[in-house]
Parts: sequence; C-alpha cells; structure tokens
Amino acid sequence: PHGAKTLNELADYWADTKPDHIGYRFEGRETSFSDFRNTTVRLSRALRAAGIRKGDRIAWIGKNSDRYFTLLFAAARASAVTVPIGWRLSPKEMAFILEDAGAVAVVASPEFVELARELAAGIPAIRWVLASEQGCGIASPEEFMAENINAPELDTLPQPDDALVQLYTSGTTGNPKGVVLTHDNFLKNAGEELPDTPSWDIWEEHEAGLQVMPIAHIAGTGYGIMPMNRGVSCNIVAEFNPGEILDLIHSKQLTRFFLVPAALQMLINDPKTEQTDTSGVVQINYGASPMPLQLLRDCMKAFPNAGFCQFYGMTETTGTIIVLEPDDHDPDGNEKMRSAGRPLPGIEVKIVDETGNEVGVREVGEICTRSNANMAHYWKQPEKTAETVDKDGWLRTGDAAYRDTEGYIYIHDRMKDMIITGGENVYPAEVENALYEHPSVSEAAVIGIPDEKWGEAVKAIVVPKPNQEIDEEHVIGFVRERIAGFKAPKSVDVIEIMPRNASGKILRKDLRAPYWAGKDRQVN
Ligand code: ATP
Ligand code: MG
Repeated sequence: PHGAKTLNELADYWADTKPDHIGYRFEGRETSFSDFRNTTVRLSRALRAAGIRKGDRIAWIGKNSDRYFTLLFAAARASAVTVPIGWRLSPKEMAFILEDAGAVAVVASPEFVELARELAAGIPAIRWVLASEQGCGIASPEEFMAENINAPELDTLPQPDDALVQLYTSGTTGNPKGVVLTHDNFLKNAGEELPDTPSWDIWEEHEAGLQVMPIAHIAGTGYGIMPMNRGVSCNIVAEFNPGEILDLIHSKQLTRFFLVPAALQMLINDPKTEQTDTSGVVQINYGASPMPLQLLRDCMKAFPNAGFCQFYGMTETTGTIIVLEPDDHDPDGNEKMRSAGRPLPGIEVKIVDETGNEVGVREVGEICTRSNANMAHYWKQPEKTAETVDKDGWLRTGDAAYRDTEGYIYIHDRMKDMIITGGENVYPAEVENALYEHPSVSEAAVIGIPDEKWGEAVKAIVVPKPNQEIDEEHVIGFVRERIAGFKAPKSVDVIEIMPRNASGKILRKDLRAPYWAGKDRQVN
C-alpha cells in the first residue's frame, strides 16, 4: 500500500519507489515514474506562476494522450481542477461546458488547437490556451515551463477532499451535469491495506493496464489513474481502434483492460483477433452499459485464458461500485452471469421503492449507494445534488435492479427507460438480451412508443449482421419463446447504424424522439 492520499503523493511515491518503471506509454513515448513526477512538479509551479489558484478549472480538449495525465497531475499538485471535454462534442456543447465550469485556461491537443482558440475568443473568463505538444504555433507545456523556469516551489499542496476533476456526465438522459470528484474519490481505500482486497484485483509487477475510453468519461480518466494506483504501467490509446489494442495484446505489453460491450464486440469481430496471441491477457473487464449474455459468451470464447469481470458504476460514484468476479463467470452460462455482481468492499448498496424503503429479495427498486467513492456534488447545481444525494449520504443511481438471496444485484435498466405497457413494467435491457441471441441480429435497442391500447408499446430497433435479412414476425416469435409475451416487441425496425454516444451507450432518447414528437412522455 502506497499510503498516498492525493494524486501528487501518489506520483511522488512511485517516483521514489520505482523511478525507472514505465508509468505511461503513448504512441511510442514512454515516461518513467520519475520523469513523470519531475515534469508534473515543474508544470505545477509554472501553472501557479501563471496565476492558477486553488479551485481554478483548467479544461482539456483532445483525444486521449499522456499529456492529459501530465496536465491532470500537475494541475492537481497546484490544487487546480481539470475538466476533460469530449472531443466528439459539437463546438456549441464544448462552449457550454467551458462556460458552465468557468474554465480559466484550456490545454488542447494539436488537432483541437484552432478550435480551442476560437472557443476561448468568445469566453472572457479563459485567460490562455496551450497546445499539448510542441510545434502547434502556440506555447506548449515545454515552452510554458521554460518561461516559468524560476517559478518557486508551491507553498501549499492539496488536501484529500479537494476537487481533482470535474467530469460531465454522458448526457444519456438529459443535459450533461458537472460531477465534482476529489483526490479521495480516486484514492479511496488505496491508502490503507484492505484485508479483503479481492483476488481479481491483485496485479503482478510486469502487468500493464489500458486507458482507451474517452478521458471525458469516468472510465477514461479512471483507468488512466488506476495503474499508477497499483504501481504498474498504463498504455494510452488516443481512441478505440481494435488493431492497436490487438497489437499491444500480441506483444504482451497489455495484460488487463476495460472495454464497454460495444467495443468488445468490435474487438472480437476484428479478423486480426484470430492471429493475435492472447495468452498474455489476464483479465478483461467490461461494463458501463448492459452486457448481452450472448456477447459475453462470444468474448469468453475469443479470450479463453482471460478472467472476465463485470463492473457497474457511474460518474457520480467515481466508477465501479459493483463487480461480478471472474469466478462467477462460467463459459456455459449460468444465472449469475445475468447479474452485475456484488458491491466492492467498503461500498454500501441498498435497493429502495419510491418512498425510500428497502424492498425485499427479488423485488425491483432503485439502487442507492453510500461510500467515499460518492462525488462531492454536482457543480453549481445544489438542487440537483440534493435530489440525488440525501442528507445521510445515500446517492440515488436512477437505475432499477433487484437482489437475490446471495446478494447478487441484477441491473434492470435506467428507471427512465422503463416501458409501461398495459400496466406491466418492461426493462429494455432484458428484451435486448433476448434479441442479441437471434442469429441475424448484430445490435439491438428497445424503446417504448405511444400506443392507444397499451399506453406504450414495446418496439425493437435492430442492426442486422452483415448480409442477413431480418424477418419481423420471426424476431418477435423468437423473443416470445425466451421471455414473457408482454415483454416481446410489437414491432421491429431495421436500421444500419445504432446511435451511440462517445462511451458507446445507445441513445434511446434519440430513437424515441420521432415517435414522441408533439406528445408527452412522463419520463423522458
Ligand atoms: P447521464 O447521467 O448524463 O444521463 P450516463 O448516466 O450515461 O449519463 P455515466 O455516468 O457514464 O453517464 O453512466 C452511468 C450509467 O451507466 C449507470 O447509471 C447505468 O445506467 C449504466 N451502467 C453502468 N455500468 C453498467 C453495467 N455493468 N450494466 C448495466 N448498466 C450499466
Ligand atoms: Mg447518469
């Protein structure tokens, strides 16, 4: 246990303990723990000398890069807060976040320098823009540090409860909200030796992780910090691309990674997988959206030597709080594989009804959680924070689930996506799971559409596998054989591309929109 309570202490610990060990690897650039610490110390002083004060927001616009983590750790040391902005957002959406966060500075990767400067020109609070790399026509961190070469040592360092990053939620269900996470949120438990560190989370010295999810997402920033938490190397990939990940796997530079189900599907479907030596992969973690059972079985076949682990969590809980461990995964499929697993040590979880009372075993309610992984608050939204976290610290996830007698939690879906048809509740994920088993279906989404008779009717929207026809009646009958008749779709639409956000989540609200135009759906 490193005992670090802040990100800067973490960087210091590994720089002192394993100075030459590779901390980050990005496009052939390798940074040792020692070099990483030294750069972040110098940059933190330069930031302070340039007027950055405690709590100031510094935005990052760009794809994943080791330079993002340099900024994050340097800003952290200077007690400033990093705000990563998703590069796939429109300029208008980026401007919304820059203004909402009150960013005073922006660091942009080369492809986004022009855009960052244009955005900054329209926002007076932004004092300067840096390019993350040299040679972009404006100052880079190197030049910035050179200008501030004599910047004095920092007189104050951050406290564990100080804000570290501000991540905007995916906006799957509405406007993105700024989630303020602290040093402690990320280092929770890491400082002390937990007697019950789960066996699936013990890394060996030679192992290395992967940062591939967009850094604006909790799994992106989280997986860039996590390997340092364990003192192992982290491979950074600018954006998801099966070939690059398979190369890292083949060369045994990557032993464990997290991918969302949609990305895992692309990885195993990549023809290169067959020629890849996957024997170095110890563990594959997946989550962030429901995992279709059929896809999970296919992944287990493609990586027969790897343990599989499901993670459930959200931005507001600094990522994972519930885990389905490798031992609960069985290639022939078992009931437990439909569950998201059990809470991590130190995480409290309860499932409650609308009045806030705990429901019984196998009864569906909303998941609530309490632990030091819970966010500090939503940025500048005290009402939203109060609606989400009660005075005792219980955070409402907005997800529906039930628990079995052994404490395994089965996530149904978001409460807001629940379909009420003829008085019965239908959770899209369960229907989608059945659809994924159909041999012609590649991707599936289920929504409720207005219906005079049923209130809402279940509709499936599917993307067929290459060169496959979808027969509506056959698909409906196929689902009816697997789950209760009222849950089966009444109609099936075929589309070519599933609308997803940057973290691979299906945008059900976009799929619903054409059907609900001019009508009110109580839950949006
Ligand atoms: P917004 O809050 O802006 O609508 P979002 O909820 O999609 O966006 P995130 O915090 O990235 O933003 O995602 C958290 C949500 O992802 C959870 O509330 C849950 O609905 C879903 N999720 C996470 N892990 C799993 C999992 N293992 N299985 C099913 N759903 C999951
Ligand atoms: Mg959410």
